Amino acid sequence: MGLFDFFKREKKPRYIYSEGDLLVFFVECEKCKELFRVIVRKHSELYRTYGKGTGEYEIQKEIIGSKCQNRINIHFDLKPSYAELDHEISGGRLLTREEYNELMNKNNS
Ligand SMILES: [Zn+2]
Repeated sequence: MGLFDFFKREKKPRYIYSEGDLLVFFVECEKCKELFRVIVRKHSELYRTYGKGTGEYEIQKEIIGSKCQNRINIHFDLKPSYAELDHEISGGRLLTREEYNELMNKNNS
């Protein structure tokens, strides 16, 4: 990894976290602001692209919250290391772990 790669990587916020066999990301509903901690099992919920996609793996998730009817659709392209290459989201926005924790604390106080 070159120095340039390091700076490039630092600019992008990190939205996907690897925790053992799981990947975790955080989402906020754009309509009702409901917060989601979304878990993806590496062994059963990741799609391998076999060279057909942008990355080595893909995640495709639809989330429907308990507070409104809004559907949130998320697509991630991942590197072999499970790091994010790219994402698309509609119906909500991705949060970093820090943002999610901050919003959770606010809602609970
Ligand atoms: Zn909602």
